[in-house]
Amino acid sequence: MGKAVLVILDGCGFDLATECCGYLEHMAEAGQAAKYKVQSQLPSMSRPLYATLLTGLPAHRHGVGNNWISAKLDAPSVFSLCRGEGRTSAAAAYYWISELFQHGPFDHARHRYQLQGEGDIQHGLYYFEDDYPDSHLLLDAEFLRHSFAPDFLLAHTMNIDHTGHLYGTGSMQRSLAAIRADAALASLVPLWLAAGAYVAVTADHGAGAHGLHGGNTPEQRAVPLYLLGPAIRKGVFVNQPLSQLWVAPLVCRMLGIEPSPEMEKPEVDFFDA
Ligand SMILES: [Zn+2]
Repeated sequence: MGKAVLVILDGCGFDLATECCGYLEHMAEAGQAAKYKVQSQLPSMSRPLYATLLTGLPAHRHGVGNNWISAKLDAPSVFSLCRGEGRTSAAAAYYWISELFQHGPFDHARHRYQLQGEGDIQHGLYYFEDDYPDSHLLLDAEFLRHSFAPDFLLAHTMNIDHTGHLYGTGSMQRSLAAIRADAALASLVPLWLAAGAYVAVTADHGAGAHGLHGGNTPEQRAVPLYLLGPAIRKGVFVNQPLSQLWVAPLVCRMLGIEPSPEMEKPEVDFFDA
């Protein structure tokens, strides 16, 4: 049985990560991590892709086709599979994660802090302002890990996506948000690895012109996937984009739990033999 941390850098496209995430790039270049390119599912929109990343299903099967569907998902997720095997999970994430996997719609007065609670995510800290600092969010995630030792931890930042919407895809502000998130991870990933966890860092989608996303172009769909941990096959493998449907079963494998029958089997071996 393993532990896993999944970091979703919201809106961090592949090229932005390559340009700005020097710590993660270093770990891949130095043979300490794997780097892949992933093609996001469609629509290249946040809420449908949160559902995809955590269930392994495309939008037409998990049923979340836009950002405004606030009902809880029916499909099995990494969270529910964990719980089904008596394991625990935690999330420091945008409130849509609470709506998808805990209860929707979000009640600001009751749902911001959900610690030692019911549901598939036993420990959750949820924010609802898109400019909630990534530096604080990542430390919220570390607080959950340190306090509750969950088997599965989701850390989900928003500043890269938000600055893209406000200032545009090529803006200094968006690049700075990516540099800051990467720098914060440089402090935390070593702690997570030292605790024996696997770490996966990816994004839901990238961004096209004007910082917008939702459609079907490489700029909106290409996202990075960095993997770290003891048995990860290290190196840079970015020539052939991987399916985003493989992230959820990959995380299940990191955790040592059975993927749901609906999840696709990845056609890549992410692990050393
Ligand atoms: Zn997003």
